[in-house]
Amino acid sequence: MTFALVVVSVINVQILTATDPRSPAAEPGMERALLWITMLGCICIFTGISIWLFFPASVTRPIKELLDAIQDIAAQKYDRRLGLYGTKEFDDVSRNFNTMAEQLAAYHASSLSELMAANENMEILINSITEPIIALDASYRILFINDVALSVLSISRHEAISRPARQLALDNDLLRRLIRGLEQSKDNVDKKVYDNAPLKIYANDKESYFQVKYISIDHMKVTDNNAVSSPDAHTNHMIMLKNVTEFKERDSAKTTFISTISHELKTPLAAIKMSLQLLEDSRIGKLNKEQSELAEDIKQNSDRLLNITSELLNMTQVESGKLQLKPRITKPIELIDYAIKANRVQADKFNISIEVDYPEDNRISKLFVDSEKIAWVLTNLLSNAIRYSPDHARVIVGARQQDETHVEMYVRDFGKGIDPRYHESIFEHYFRVPGTKVQGSGLGLSISKDFVEAHGGTLTVDSQIGSGSVFTVRIRV
Ligand code: ADP
Repeated sequence: MTFALVVVSVINVQILTATDPRSPAAEPGMERALLWITMLGCICIFTGISIWLFFPASVTRPIKELLDAIQDIAAQKYDRRLGLYGTKEFDDVSRNFNTMAEQLAAYHASSLSELMAANENMEILINSITEPIIALDASYRILFINDVALSVLSISRHEAISRPARQLALDNDLLRRLIRGLEQSKDNVDKKVYDNAPLKIYANDKESYFQVKYISIDHMKVTDNNAVSSPDAHTNHMIMLKNVTEFKERDSAKTTFISTISHELKTPLAAIKMSLQLLEDSRIGKLNKEQSELAEDIKQNSDRLLNITSELLNMTQVESGKLQLKPRITKPIELIDYAIKANRVQADKFNISIEVDYPEDNRISKLFVDSEKIAWVLTNLLSNAIRYSPDHARVIVGARQQDETHVEMYVRDFGKGIDPRYHESIFEHYFRVPGTKVQGSGLGLSISKDFVEAHGGTLTVDSQIGSGSVFTVRIRV
């Protein structure tokens, strides 16, 4: 603008002086024109400087204030208000901004209270569960814990919430055991791990048993509503305890009952066998053919009853934790010989030939085992091999040095074999493969497994339908 006024004035002077700048008539006009030009120039310069100095501040100040206010809102300071007034535009901006801030504040307050209400509901729900529950985040900080869990752990809510469980576990034996169990369960591929041995806990002035269940929950990063596994996915953990004291008490009552009954049955059974022996003694009187057959029948059945009672007694020994091993140095061949002798009559009865597979040079390590128990296992395996084979079949009992530290003893038969889907179940108490016609209790293999495992060994089966079975006892020397 200054530049335009100066240009206009200069043109004016040019016009005025165009006639004859030196003529005396032009002089007063020239002076007036110069004065006007100077005055106008000064006004223009002053106006230009004022605009240059004050215009930016009047525009940038409101913009800066608006920017600050937006930043405050972004930082969730919803009580921020804008006070730009003066022009209609600024009034509108301020009014709209303040309305937006008020609505955001109201929305934030409502979602916060909703969240708090949801949290409260969840706490009520978890506290209403009568079994102890503890939830931990990825770094084992306690997220929530219900009242029963607090009581079982003997800690207060204030002590527990948001505290690192590992730190609390330093003074709390039970929590330490649970954290250790959780860490072991994490190594397991399956996310849900059930610790089979119940945990004995002294809670509410009495001894209780709890079955512990560890659950790890993977958090997925959510992208476009699709849950996807991501490198920064983290895992929360749940520890749930189920009170099994009642079942445990009933189970031990059952074990005691079976044990007592088995003991009580043994004496009359021994008396029956004794009487049978006397009956068969020709000095007392000769039995006719029919009587002999009846006597033989009674003998066989009392043998079976004795067998079952001894199996039940063995089982109760294992279940009550009263299994006592009396280990001594034993050659594997001694155990095999014992098993063959014990099964000789039965094998002859069904014309089964028993073969022995043993290294000729006898180069096989001696074992340090409870020979009665391991001999019982081999006897039972051999008895099964005979019972589940057709007449005139072959059965092989053998032993081999598996490596420097392990010896394997096995019983192979060529009988009907076992469907692979039952390979695990046959080691459970009372389990019998469906359709098995041969009489039995379903206890022999489960007791055998317990006996072998009590020695730190393993009992495994390899069998296919139609091609027979091999049961292998593997024991460390
Ligand atoms: P029991 O023989 O008294 O029934 P076990 O525990 O010894 O009890 O065996 C469990 C089941 O496994 C048997 O009922 C039978 O079905 C199956 N079994 C065991 N050994 C053999 C074998 N050598 N051949 C085929 N089936 C077998």
